[in-house]
Amino acid sequence: MTGVTVITHPLVQHNLTRLRDHRTRPQEFRRVLGEVAALMLYEATRAFSVRKVAVQTPLSPARGFRLSREVVLVPVLRAGLGMLEPILQLLPGARVGFIGLKREEATLRAQFYHQSLPKDLRRMEVILIDPMLATGGSAVAAMNLLANLGASRVRLVNLVAAPEGIRCVRRHHPRLPIFTAAIDRKLNGRGYIVPGLGDAGDRLFGV
Ligand code: URA
Repeated sequence: MTGVTVITHPLVQHNLTRLRDHRTRPQEFRRVLGEVAALMLYEATRAFSVRKVAVQTPLSPARGFRLSREVVLVPVLRAGLGMLEPILQLLPGARVGFIGLKREEATLRAQFYHQSLPKDLRRMEVILIDPMLATGGSAVAAMNLLANLGASRVRLVNLVAAPEGIRCVRRHHPRLPIFTAAIDRKLNGRGYIVPGLGDAGDRLFGV
């Protein structure tokens, strides 16, 4: 699918399989999700623009690069939190915004219950983090909000995506790059990804 990068790296796939396993308890789930998130970040940031800089090593001047733009990480609560900390370790200078969205059980529609985002998104690289791209409703709602605030360089990072979710995001935001470790078979009648890994928030926090 255009604009969708499936990260097939063996370490990502190995860890995704551990996350899918229903026997993986929250403590291990949190750790492994963090490991996958860090690995996925490499791919998701591959096209970040850099500017040339000069540095002085202990031996000589050297040419190097720095990221051109500030980065803001935006986890969608609550499951996005599981991928935040390890990504922050790799991008310690990043800012962090939060979007709280929940699904109305009856309609599966996304509803905001929280948002805190930097004001000057226009100049930033935004990484929108949500482990599960199911119906696509939350991703589209989050993306609409970011676009309304001026964000134009956004990447969506999911762990598992349903074809329905990808189609929905593509329909509303055709140019949004999506990074995922897997495109699964389908959604079930309750909006869960099959085979998926269950409710990512519940698996993370044991609730
Ligand atoms: N959210 C989840 O946590 N899991 C799914 O399968 C779908 C949405």
